[in-house]
Amino acid sequence: MMASCGPTGLPWWCRFDSIGLIPAMKAVIAGAGIGGLTAALCLLQQGADVTLYEQASALEDVGAGLQLSPNGCKVMRALGLLADIEAEAVRPERIEMRFGQSGAMIFTIPLADEAVLRWGAPYLHIHRADLVTVLRNALTRQSSDALRLGRAVTAYAQDEAGLTIALSDGSRIAADMLIGADGIRSGIRTQMLGEEAPRFTGCMAWRAVVPMQQLGAMAPPRTACVWVGEGKHAVTYHLRRGALANFVGVVERADWRQESWTEEGTREEALRDFDGWHPVIRTLIKEAPRLFRWALFDRDTLPRWTDGRVALLGDACHPMLPFMAQGAVMAIEDAWVLAQSVRQNANAAEGLHAYERARKTRTSAVQAAARANAGIFHRRTVLGKLATYGPMWLGARLAPAMVHARQDWLYGIDVVTSAARG
Ligand SMILES: Cc1cc2nc3c(=O)[nH]c(=O)nc-3n(C[C@H](O)[C@H](O)[C@H](O)COP(=O)(O)OP(=O)(O)OC[C@H]3O[C@@H](n4cnc5c(N)ncnc54)[C@H](O)[C@@H]3O)c2cc1C
Repeated sequence: MMASCGPTGLPWWCRFDSIGLIPAMKAVIAGAGIGGLTAALCLLQQGADVTLYEQASALEDVGAGLQLSPNGCKVMRALGLLADIEAEAVRPERIEMRFGQSGAMIFTIPLADEAVLRWGAPYLHIHRADLVTVLRNALTRQSSDALRLGRAVTAYAQDEAGLTIALSDGSRIAADMLIGADGIRSGIRTQMLGEEAPRFTGCMAWRAVVPMQQLGAMAPPRTACVWVGEGKHAVTYHLRRGALANFVGVVERADWRQESWTEEGTREEALRDFDGWHPVIRTLIKEAPRLFRWALFDRDTLPRWTDGRVALLGDACHPMLPFMAQGAVMAIEDAWVLAQSVRQNANAAEGLHAYERARKTRTSAVQAAARANAGIFHRRTVLGKLATYGPMWLGARLAPAMVHARQDWLYGIDVVTSAARG
C-alpha cells in the first residue's frame, strides 16, 4: 500500500523536525495578499498543512507597480520563484533623484548590476498583478486546494485544548496556528488588540500605470526615480519588461481620507497638484487611463503581534508609509522568518513568539525610516533644500559607494541565511 503524502509531496512519516520540517502542523492564513501568499509558500516548504482564506472572490488585480528590493528577492529565490518573477519584471539601471519642476539631477548612481554585487540579489520593478500571479501559480502547483476564495476569517478562540477559527460561511475549523495576513484594516489585529487610531499624515498618493507607447519622448527614465518638490514628490519606474510606466505622486493635502486601492480621482485634480512640474510627470498624468488616490495614514508600532497560537504578518502588524517602498518586502521577509521560527521551536505558540522577537526591531526601523523620508522629499525652504540635497549631490559625485552603503542595513540583509543560523 502507498503511504499518503503531505503537501510537500513527502510521505507523512518523513515530515520530521530532524530533517527540518514541521511535523503535520495545520496552519490557517487569513488574507491572500503578497504577505499571505508568501507565508503559505514558506510554510508549505516546511511541510505544514496550509489553508489560505481570502475574503474576496478573486485575487487583487491592483493596477500598480511594486519595487521589490534585493532583501525581498532573496526570499523569492529561496522559494524557487526569482526566475519567474524576473521574467515579468524590469531591472532599473540606476537609482536617481531629480527636482520635480526642472528635472535637474540631484544624484544618479548605478543599480542594476550593483544591487547583485553589493546586496546579493537584483532590485526589481514588477506589476503587483504579475507578482500575485507567480505566487498564486506556485501555491496551486504545490497544494491545489490550499487557496479558498470568497471566505473571510471572522474570529478565533483558543484554550489549552486548541485553536478554533470561525469563517464567514458560518463554519468553524480547528488548527494549530492562525496567521493574520489580513492587511491594514486587519480584523484579527482588532480582536487581538482592540480598535486602532491611525493618524492622517496630511498626504495623499496618486497612482497610475500608463502604457509606454503613449508617452513617446516623455517616457520616464528606466530608473528608480524620485522627483522632489515643495510639499510633494513623485516616483516613476518601468514595469512589465518596459511596456508600462508606473507613477506615484504624493501631495500634502488634507481633503482626502480614504485608504483604498480602488478610489479614483480626476485628471484635472492631479494636474493641478503637479502644476508647473516637469513634462515627464505631466504627460504621465495626461495619458493615464485611470488615476487612483490613497490617503496616507501613519500608525505606531504595536505592543505585540501574537496571542498564543495566533500571529499577525505584513501590513496587519507593521503598516508603513510607502516612502521606502518596503511594505510588501517586509511582509515577504516576515513570511520566511515565521516559517523558520515555527520549524525551530517546540510548538506553534513558541515559534510565533520567536518570529515576533526576530522581526520587530527591523520592521520598526523601516517604519521610522519611511516616516523620515516624507520630510526629505518635500523640502520647502532654500536652506532646507541646500542642507538636504547638497550633500546628496556631492556624495554621489565624490563617493557613490557611500550612497550605496547607506542602504546596506536594508537591502543587504538576507533573512534566508540569518533565519537558518537562528
Ligand atoms: C501607493 C503605495 C505604493 C507602495 N509601493 C510599495 C513598493 O514599491 N514596495 C513595497 O514593498 N511596498 C509598497 N507598498 C506597500 C504594500 O502595498 C503593502 O505593504 C503590502 O501590499 C501589504 O501586503 P499584505 O499582504 O500585508 O496586505 P494586503 O496586500 O492588504 O493583503 C491583505 C489581504 O487580506 C484580505 N483580507 C482582509 N481581511 C480578511 C479576512 N478577515 N479574511 C480573509 N481575508 C481577508 C484582503 O482582501 C487582502 O487580499 C505601497 C503602498 C502604497 C499605498
